[in-house]
Formats: sequence, structure tokens, C-alpha cells
Amino acid sequence: MKRFLAAVFCMALFCSLTGCKSTGESSAEFYAMDTTMNVTAYGTGAKSAVSETQAEVDRLEALLSRTRSDSEVSAINSGAADAPVAVSIETAGLLNAAWSYSHTTNGAFDITIAPVVSAWGFTTDHYQVPTQPALDALLNAVDYTGVLVEGISSSSARVTLRKGQAVDLGGIAKGYASDCVEAILSENGVERAMASLGGNIYVRGTKPDGSAWRVGVQDPDRSGGFVGVLSLSDAFAVTSGGYQRYFEQDGKRYHHIIDPATGYPAESGLTSVTIVADGNKTETPNTPGNGTMCDAFSTAMFVMGEEKAAEFWRSGAYNFQMVLVTEDGRVLVTDGLADKFEQEDGSGYAYETISRTPS
Ligand code: AMP
Ligand code: MG
Repeated sequence: MKRFLAAVFCMALFCSLTGCKSTGESSAEFYAMDTTMNVTAYGTGAKSAVSETQAEVDRLEALLSRTRSDSEVSAINSGAADAPVAVSIETAGLLNAAWSYSHTTNGAFDITIAPVVSAWGFTTDHYQVPTQPALDALLNAVDYTGVLVEGISSSSARVTLRKGQAVDLGGIAKGYASDCVEAILSENGVERAMASLGGNIYVRGTKPDGSAWRVGVQDPDRSGGFVGVLSLSDAFAVTSGGYQRYFEQDGKRYHHIIDPATGYPAESGLTSVTIVADGNKTETPNTPGNGTMCDAFSTAMFVMGEEKAAEFWRSGAYNFQMVLVTEDGRVLVTDGLADKFEQEDGSGYAYETISRTPS
């Protein structure tokens, strides 16, 4: 009996030190891809899944970062114009997905926006408003159709850029990381988990008590406030907002989501976009899935603005739902989220529904 009590005491002490709960909870918080990330998983396999997640995000950052000189993206960007650069199948696959999202959004999402993002100082944190001639010169090379991705399913995958071009996967890499986290949780047999990769949320199964996960949609104008809460299980929810990264100069705010048509931070009348899609179970690990799609579309819809985003959603070409927050104080929710989105009382916003047929 004494031995049993001692064992229980030791277990309780161990759990209070490591953070494990009776539900078999395991969690970690870490900084990667320029943002804070956390992951919490429950049950068998949770512990190994959580530690593998951290290692996986580090691996992806080393592969895809534009600011690390030894990444594959840096190798592509420092290659000579019109000369193919050898890359891994994984990088080629992600660039290929990014290319098709650039294409399908008519260039609102454009992976060749890199030189313009740099000109504003968002890669170095040395912010500045570029001159119009400087922007015009850089915009000449912003054109995703100039990116050639070849041999994506072979060991001789390669990427070719045109003169003056560079690629930036900042608008899609965290979403891709959430797809890879989904695969890790699958491989470890984890049935309940939540991962937050800086605005990119993935929820697996339900909470341990069987209820849906609650994902807050932040109020872009009120730090710490929400415009509403989404009740989700097995889903990705990705938010892009001008409030997430910006600088101020001469009383004006300049954020990090650039309109490829102007080279300026997008002024589409939206202050945030949240895209929600099924938390698909990836059949082939390390290939882009719905997490990647949500990330590309959150950036793209932000650039497109309310009307074009609604039109794109209505086309039904992709299976996703969205929450748009407008500058003039409205929250627009697509009808597929009707039973999942809870309005925030007293937020001051007016709530509207976007339906398949325009009203
Ligand atoms: P997100 O936070 O996912 O909306 O992505 C914003 C990041 O994507 C920026 O920090 C840039 O690195 C990059 N980016 C900015 N504008 C665009 C754009 N129009 N298309 C693709 N990537 C972009
Ligand atoms: Mg994005």
C-alpha cells in the first residue's frame, strides 16, 4: 500500500512538473517562422507527436526560409536568371501548389512578390516606404508565370526564375507546416489535438470532453478582443490581417500584405480574412493539403477585397468557408459556417451572411 501511494505521489509530482494531465495531455510552445507556435495533443502518441512537431517546423523553416542563406528558397533566389536550380521534391511540390494558387486567384496571391516585400523592409525589419520608381522597377519582375517548376515528382526537380525574380513563401509556409503537423499527429495515432502556428490553426477531433474546439476570430481593431468564435473539429482555420505585421510612418500604417497590382500594402477595405476548410487526413505526408490552401487564400482574399472574395467563394471551385472583417465595421460570414460561428456580443460590428446566391 505504501509503495502504491508513493507511486501515485511520484506520478502526481511528475505531472505537475511536466504539464501532463489525466487526459494524457502533452504540449509545447516554441518560436519559429518568425512567430510563436504552440501545439497540444492528447492520448497515446501525444508526447512523441508534440516533440516531432517542433522538429518538423524547424526542418521546414530551414528548407523554406527566405532569410536563411542555406535554405532551398535562398538557393532558388540566388540562382542565375533562366538557369534551373535543383531542389527537393518537397520544395518543388510546395512551389507548384503556390503557383497554382497564384494562378487561380488571378495573381492576387503571387509568390514572386518577394523583392517588393523586401523593399518595404518586411524581411529585415528595417521598414521604409519605397519610392515609386523603385517600386515600378521591382514590379516588372512580379509575375508568377515566369516561375518554371519542373520534374516535381522526380529526383531531378528544378526551379527556374526570370531576371530580377525571387520567390517568397511567407504567405503559404505556415499553412504547409500545419499540413505536415496533421501528418505527424496521424502517424502517431493522435485523435485530439490543436496546433496554432501563428494565425494558422489546426484542430484535430474534438476537445477531450467531446465538445468542439473554440477558435476566436480576433478583432483587428481591438487587441485581445474578438469579433466572434468558431466551433470547429477536424479543421484548418487561417487568418491574415493587416494588424498582424505593420509599421507606421508619418501617421500612416503600412502592413505586410502587398497588392501585386500596385506594390503597396493592399487597401481592399478588409482588415482581416479567416479561411476555414476540412482538416483533411493527408494520404501522402509532406505534400500540400488544405492547410496550405487556407493560407494561400487568406492572403489572396485579403488582397481581393469583399466583392471579389465573395465571387471567388461562390464559384465553388474550392471547398472552403470564410469570415471577412471590413474596415467599415462589418463581419461577413459564409453560410457554410452558420452553425459554427458565434457572434461576439457588444463587439460593435454588424454581422452579415454571404450566401451562394448574392442577395
Ligand atoms: P499571410 O500572413 O499568410 O497573409 O502572409 C503574408 C506574407 O506573405 C508576407 O509577410 C509576405 O512574406 C508574403 N506576401 C505578402 N503579400 C503577398 C501576396 N500578395 N502574395 C503572396 N505572398 C505575399
Ligand atoms: Mg497566408
